[in-house]
Amino acid sequence: MAFDAPVESAREVLRRTFGHQDFRGLQAGVVGEVLAGRSALAVLPTGGGKSLCYQIPALIRPGLGLVVSPLIALMADQVAGLQQLGVAAARLDSNATSDERQATWRRIGEGTLDLLYVSPEGLMAGAMLERLSNRPLALVAIDEAHCVSQWGHDFRPEYRSLGRLAEVFPAVPRLAVTATADARTREDIRTELRLQGAAEFVDSFARPELQLQAERKTSVGAHARVQQLVQARPDRAGVIYAGSRKSTDELADRLAGVGVPALAYHAGLDKRVREDRLKRFLDEDEAVIVATIAFGMGIDKPDVRYVIHADPPASVEAYWQEVGRAGRDGQPAEGITLYGASDLAWALRRIDEREVSAEVKQVQVRKARQLYAMLDGLACRAVAVRRYFGEEVVEPCGQCDLCTSPPEAHDATKPAQMALSAVHRLGGRFGRGRVVDHLLGKTRDVQLFEAQLSTFGVGADRSAVEWRSLLDQLLFDGLLREEPNDGRPLVALGDPAAVREVYRGERKVEVRAPAPRRERVRRDRQDYERTGPLAAESPQTSALFEALRAWRKGQAQLQSVPPYVIFHDKTLLEIAQVRPSDLGRLGAVSGVGQGKLDRYGAAVLEVVRGPSE
Ligand code: ADP
Ligand code: ZN
Repeated sequence: MAFDAPVESAREVLRRTFGHQDFRGLQAGVVGEVLAGRSALAVLPTGGGKSLCYQIPALIRPGLGLVVSPLIALMADQVAGLQQLGVAAARLDSNATSDERQATWRRIGEGTLDLLYVSPEGLMAGAMLERLSNRPLALVAIDEAHCVSQWGHDFRPEYRSLGRLAEVFPAVPRLAVTATADARTREDIRTELRLQGAAEFVDSFARPELQLQAERKTSVGAHARVQQLVQARPDRAGVIYAGSRKSTDELADRLAGVGVPALAYHAGLDKRVREDRLKRFLDEDEAVIVATIAFGMGIDKPDVRYVIHADPPASVEAYWQEVGRAGRDGQPAEGITLYGASDLAWALRRIDEREVSAEVKQVQVRKARQLYAMLDGLACRAVAVRRYFGEEVVEPCGQCDLCTSPPEAHDATKPAQMALSAVHRLGGRFGRGRVVDHLLGKTRDVQLFEAQLSTFGVGADRSAVEWRSLLDQLLFDGLLREEPNDGRPLVALGDPAAVREVYRGERKVEVRAPAPRRERVRRDRQDYERTGPLAAESPQTSALFEALRAWRKGQAQLQSVPPYVIFHDKTLLEIAQVRPSDLGRLGAVSGVGQGKLDRYGAAVLEVVRGPSE
């Protein structure tokens, strides 16, 4: 390979400023492309280091690096992180005071700013674009570029106007980055952002540090199950997604009631409350936030150890992006999803009610079904996700719940026939609970017509749990369908041809035995232990790690920044393992660049030496 001078100088900046030894994955390729003055589209997995792909070229190329980012919280975080590294970075957003804005514009005018973060609407509205158009730019980076696509799940109409940047800055390389984009979304990004000729970098979607798990909701209730999961994971930072504002509040209250430091976060809260909660979440090592997906893209917190979906996401893209917020520091983390047949019914109903073209609806329905096929599937979840994103067949991950404890399936064709027949006779007028009661012959205040049906009590030899799980299966298989009926869903027969095949015994129905409660609790425990940052560390290392964290917390409070912008857990852990005795050795730890060495080197060495006797 030829010696590539620009990439070498980029590597130098990577080491000196960011403290990382070498580029990862496709970073070097993307950086090289932008340094050569060419536009590019980069799809790198969450935690893959997308931001360095534009930060480093912005530091090397003359002029200002302009970064378009959709969320203020995310910008604030990145800017704070860059300032810690000694990089001249600022943001112009609706939160800035007029003094701050003036100061920023002054620095732009003087050419002393390396990176400027702006929101899409801030950039395209008013005079900002014009004022920037006569400044020399190093590059324009468009973060979360999938927001431009209506096929995606985060479509933001204001992103569409970013196509104009091609005309305003014809000679400036533009870099679109995202963590999730299937082929169709990538095509949309190219068209909308006018990146037709740009090189494309698509990294593997593998996230080996993520341990995936999904389970059907049971009669225990999703909130009770979430509580179990959270309580089995004390002292960890976690994100919990819930489907509505109301359930977000309820779940946060429930968790707070059992002593978990949980905060609700959703668009219905007052802006100040929201900002305060977000800050607390980012600042604490062990906070839990219960959010609607509105909270989505703002989270750059690297040490989130688990993401739990109390309600399932909308598509595999959304799943991967949301689950992907765990373990951004590359340390083991978990993604746990609860889902049910009613959730699917609701999703389909919502899509149907949207005011979009039939074609878009069709795509969205397919996407919803693909998500449930993955969640309710029988083979490795990581493989299913990566195939979805177009990766060639990949090895099973060996650590998701389906890889580690494949579910046992058994034939349930006979009881399925009974259930289908009961639903048929009940004429689709009742919900799931009533159908189960009917099969058991336990319906309260039963009407005469019902008690006289041949299916009444026909399944008394099975438990309610078994019947419920069978009905779930029939719903997922499309043999039954659920009408949402404004929150009181009714069960009716599904695809007639398939139902007929089951009646005739031409099609088998298989159900999975759900893991018994004892088994689940054991697994929770194991997963918790496996994903700890200190899973396999000696007591000495653990003690030093905790001491370093305590020092970091003090620093963070002093400067009012989140702890992780000072050092990541991963860096502290490496320091605790290496126990450097001088600045040279400390500087060799990944994540310790020159700026941080100057600022914190002496203090860290003191913590490593420990209290002097
Ligand atoms: P994302 O792709 O999700 O935006 P970030 O750019 O936030 O990811 O990077 C995720 C983490 O990985 C950050 O802590 C960053 O410092 C770290 N990182 C990025 N590139 C490298 C690298 N080449 N070597 C080591 N760590 C890196
Ligand atoms: Zn697997």
